Amino acid sequence: MRKLGIGLIGTGFMGKSHAMAWRAAGSFSGDIQPILVSVADINGEAAENAANQFGFKRWTTTWQDLIDDPEIDVISITSPNRFHAEQSLAAIAAGKNVHCEKPLAPDSLIAEQMYQAAEKAGVMTQVGFNYIKNPMLKLAKQMIAEGELGDITGFRGIHAEDFMTSPQVPWSWRLDPTGGAGAVADLGSHILGMARFLLGPINELFADLDTVVKSRPESAGSTILKAVEVDDIARLTVKFARGCGGHIEANWVASGHKMQLGFEITGTRGSLIFNQERFNELQFYQFGQNDGRNGFRTIVAGPEHAPYNLFCPAAGHQIGFNDLKTIEMLEFIQSIASGKVVGPDFKEAYEIQKLVDASLVSSRERSWVRFNHVEVRRQDAQARLEASLIK
Ligand code: NAD
Repeated sequence: MRKLGIGLIGTGFMGKSHAMAWRAAGSFSGDIQPILVSVADINGEAAENAANQFGFKRWTTTWQDLIDDPEIDVISITSPNRFHAEQSLAAIAAGKNVHCEKPLAPDSLIAEQMYQAAEKAGVMTQVGFNYIKNPMLKLAKQMIAEGELGDITGFRGIHAEDFMTSPQVPWSWRLDPTGGAGAVADLGSHILGMARFLLGPINELFADLDTVVKSRPESAGSTILKAVEVDDIARLTVKFARGCGGHIEANWVASGHKMQLGFEITGTRGSLIFNQERFNELQFYQFGQNDGRNGFRTIVAGPEHAPYNLFCPAAGHQIGFNDLKTIEMLEFIQSIASGKVVGPDFKEAYEIQKLVDASLVSSRERSWVRFNHVEVRRQDAQARLEASLIK
């Protein structure tokens, strides 16, 4: 049996999900077994609790200890966005494989450095776009590729949640411009990645970004307000390289919506509808139905939609959010074992980050951005970004 030593950075929402997923993935990964070696968090109590709860051998308040630890083969990064680059690059320099949460980097220039460093070092990488690990998303991709929808004519995608709606929600790392953009990076990266996963590259976009809540308490309950410099809502019109167009929204002030990550894809022979809040289902419409009986039908996830079968032998019983993370970690273990990218790796996250950067540029310049132009203008765009976002 080959052991794969895991070092986890961060023990919050995602840190717990990663720890559970690494443990669960070991049930399916055969003779290559993840071992929870060490966990780091700047909050020592949180690190110690996580070590006890999930069975890490040791804990630390200094993430660099994980980089120096010879027993660790994979660094799993769940810290706030602005630490992703420094922690990933240190891990890569030490020859470790890296799983990093999304968004990978504050901007595409840094994301580019990260994926190139990983390629040069010959280490494997993965980024936490867990929602596309859903068996129903794999099915949707297959149905599109096999022509069940005919020619694709449109994409409407959204990632809307409401956790930032109240102006009383305090300033936090999610609003820290040194970590990157706002909703368009935090939520937009998921739906942009999903759009690319299903339909391929986007090569043109127009974006309109809004900051709805202009200032927030600097900490919970404080009366001192701190200005918000990142977007709450991003509305994009996009053109895919395959020819069809689409609309995409990222929104973290969408009252009432807890996890409206979804899409509608229309084609000349049929359509698909997906909503993460009911992610064990895919709605499928096919032309050619009898008059008076026309309509979408629901495909329910079951063991025939691999890798649902790993978790449950019966259809309709459903898998959950943390199972998607388990699939992600399992695929990363397989990718490390085989040396073949399963992804989304740092290179794919860089492509997604370019769309996020282009959205900022488009919104500021009130103009369409084409990707061949973005390549040329990236340096300029980055300079403008820094001037406007990083004070
Ligand atoms: P969180 O605030 O719940 O947890 C962050 C943790 O990191 C905290 O325990 C904090 O103490 C620790 N931390 C802060 N600075 C650190 C440092 N320098 N070194 C080590 N630990 C540090 O945040 P979260 O919601 O878990 O988000 C973390 C990351 O996961 C973000 O990049 C976020 O975008 C991403 N995320 C991804 C998903 C997904 O579905 N893939 C969902 C939520 C968050």
